[in-house]
Amino acid sequence: MAPTLQEAVKGRTVMITGASSGIGKQTALKVGAAGGTLLLIARRRELLEETRGEIEGRGGVAQPYVCDLSNPAEVDELSAQVLEKHGHVDVLVNNAGRSIRREVGSSYDRFHDFQRTMQLNYFGPVKLILDLLPPMRERGSGHIINVSTAGVQMSGPMFSAYLASKAALDAFSRSLGFEVIGEGVYITTVNMPLVRTAMAAPTRMLDNFPALRPGEAADLICAAIRKRPARVATPLGNFAQAAYAVAPGLDHSVNAAIGRLLLRSPWRNLRLRPGAVGDRPAVDDLAWRESFRRRLEGGRIPADPVEVERLAVLLRGIPLFEACAPAELHKLASTAYPISFEEGEDLCLEGAESDDCYVVVEGEAALTIQGEPVGVVHAGEVVGERGPIEDLARAATVTAKSRVLAYAISRGRLDEILSNNANAAKHMRRLVRARYAPDSQR
Ligand code: NAP
Repeated sequence: MAPTLQEAVKGRTVMITGASSGIGKQTALKVGAAGGTLLLIARRRELLEETRGEIEGRGGVAQPYVCDLSNPAEVDELSAQVLEKHGHVDVLVNNAGRSIRREVGSSYDRFHDFQRTMQLNYFGPVKLILDLLPPMRERGSGHIINVSTAGVQMSGPMFSAYLASKAALDAFSRSLGFEVIGEGVYITTVNMPLVRTAMAAPTRMLDNFPALRPGEAADLICAAIRKRPARVATPLGNFAQAAYAVAPGLDHSVNAAIGRLLLRSPWRNLRLRPGAVGDRPAVDDLAWRESFRRRLEGGRIPADPVEVERLAVLLRGIPLFEACAPAELHKLASTAYPISFEEGEDLCLEGAESDDCYVVVEGEAALTIQGEPVGVVHAGEVVGERGPIEDLARAATVTAKSRVLAYAISRGRLDEILSNNANAAKHMRRLVRARYAPDSQR
């Protein structure tokens, strides 16, 4: 039977990295209460002191060490200090980490994101292990726990830098685990599910997913300390991993759907160039808009390349544009311009001609055909698309239900895509017909 936490840590030296907050701090409090001697590692001294204070307040023993684990020289210095003072480390919990949520399409000039994530999440633990493993092997006793993520098992869009760094650590741990079998040294990977901590907080969309509390996540690590398994993972993580092994196509479809959900929220963060919004006349003046579009398409109004890139990435997440090539969407984004409509104003009028259709960024608009309400348009959807796609006048009137921020997309550019990309044209026509005349699908 596995020992209790107290039996596993009492009188032992337990190093926890990232002990200044979140999962690491909660684990330290539990191990401290069970009688382990804690070595608390992180950069923020005052928070480490707080953790130490709480552990000592409950009768435990803890020693904080300030270290930037992404700096190998600092890790060496930390290891030397610790080995000199404590002789060895019984349990090393590599928990410190950072996450980056950014799609690759917005990272072309951000190679440093990938380097920094690897530096902390992969090279940090590896350096510490290279320093602290030799005494463990000599003594024939030790346990290394690497805190990874269930995201490695499930994967998903927008976290490529983070997931790759954790996957590298998982692969390292698994290989090392085989090398130390029978030596009294154990290696555990924890594929941690979502936890409500400072790390997860900026991704608002994750608020809708079930998540552990930091104390519950700490319980998973404490169970790993007691049982020393090769891996701790949730049933959902294991299921996702098995599903990918046997049916990668299914995994791809599920992730594509999640990707679309994730891509919806960034619409809210898109910066609408205030100049262009401010330039808008008080009434929806078609002559002004035509002249504005001509100046934009003629390059007389410079487009912001970062904004264009972001919009192109977001357009990729819209079903209507699914069959378009990235270069085509980039062209579409480069002559899109922001425009706002107040509550009650019409984005489109049934039967009218127009040069533009709209990608809604924020707010809601009601869709009416021949006076009958037929639906509501939300952020991330396109309106006025039937005209350019079917070469018809507007099919519906679209009226803002609240303030609507949108991008006006050039009908000319859309025509270009339709005439050069038969697949995209077929796909768009199918979606437009399904929206406006579902019966004609049969
Ligand atoms: P957190 O509250 O943000 O804690 C991160 C910890 O890492 C902090 O103590 C931070 O301390 C430390 N840290 C960051 N950069 C460091 C550096 N350069 N050197 C030393 N320490 C550094 O996040 P958390 O959610 O508890 O994350 C803990 C671990 O769980 C991470 O490895 C994360 O990838 C993993 N995880 C989290 C989730 C989740 O949903 N939260 C899910 C799966 C896996 P300082 O800032 O003081 O240095």
